[in-house]
Amino acid sequence: MNPHFQKLTICLDMAGCPNRCRHCWVGHAPNAQLIEEDLRFVATAFRPFTDNLEVASWYREPDYPDNYRELWQLENELSDRRTVPHWELCSFWRAVRDEAYVPWLAALGVKVCQLTLFGGREKTDYYTGRKGAYDEIIKTIELLLANGIAPRIQTFLFKDNAEDLQSVVALIEKIRLEQRCAAIGTSFTAFVHQGSCDGANAKLNSLYDLRPTTAEVAKIPLLLADYSLKHFGEKSILEVFGQTERELFTELSHDASTKSSVSDSPIFYVDNCFNVYPNFSEPSPHWCLGNLKTDGTGKVTQTYLGNCSAAAHTRLTTSISEMVCKFGSPDSLRLFDKSDYEAYILSRYLERGATK
Ligand code: SF4
Repeated sequence: MNPHFQKLTICLDMAGCPNRCRHCWVGHAPNAQLIEEDLRFVATAFRPFTDNLEVASWYREPDYPDNYRELWQLENELSDRRTVPHWELCSFWRAVRDEAYVPWLAALGVKVCQLTLFGGREKTDYYTGRKGAYDEIIKTIELLLANGIAPRIQTFLFKDNAEDLQSVVALIEKIRLEQRCAAIGTSFTAFVHQGSCDGANAKLNSLYDLRPTTAEVAKIPLLLADYSLKHFGEKSILEVFGQTERELFTELSHDASTKSSVSDSPIFYVDNCFNVYPNFSEPSPHWCLGNLKTDGTGKVTQTYLGNCSAAAHTRLTTSISEMVCKFGSPDSLRLFDKSDYEAYILSRYLERGATK
């Protein structure tokens, strides 16, 4: 008998992404061009395992392929229900190249779209991994507002961009985002955080070395800090950034717990070669549940439910204290959310082997 999930979300990487962000945790795999039949195949394969299937044609850049409207319709056809009109995300690459795109988002009922800045033009282009990204984001902000959609600005804090966050504040004030969002009936929102540090962004870009400490947090401009507190519902900006690695090391080095990675409502990422991964960390061989074409959903779901991937098995059988003692830095002042830190430590343990 097939296992039954309360909800199952399947995201197929049909087209990839035009960007190569340095903070990206889903990885920089080559872009592909899968076809509608591939999405149907994936949905049909997982259909017997739930009465509540949600299907997405991307997990990197939304609406990147030219047939984004057809794919949106197909996602709705293959899914059991949609609880939101469209994700509060958009492709700024498409927004500036396709004049029908932002009006289409507005027609779907989208009220807010998130865009990511890392400071001014230089830092944003550098961290997005593509020259011209900043200018495209600025144009997209104008297009969104012209179509009644409020931009939400996400900002990341690293050791080397703390000073540049003042540019984000200057932009918010210069183009009057608070007032213009109010004029279209939506509150302007923005936030700053440090993101995760596992998988691709730790390995490819060494963002661990650039992770902020309280010294960088103290440099966050007041306006951005205030917006962040509202966004996260926290009382102090340090709560947004979590604890120092030193504090987490002390706590977790005495924590003998292990964890199952199984949920009754999993989200599976399917890459453009049909390998399947849970969405805990980067789609890497450590987390791979099998290949839909060669192994089939039976093996994939059994690997998931049995915690049988290398990463899930390690997390189930190895205490966090053992991993932290091997790969944590007891004197580090870098700031982490606790669950992000556990994911980072697991990732290092898997990459470097159990022995040190
Ligand atoms: S973070 Fe998002 S936009 Fe950036 S490279 Fe990764 S998938 Fe693409």
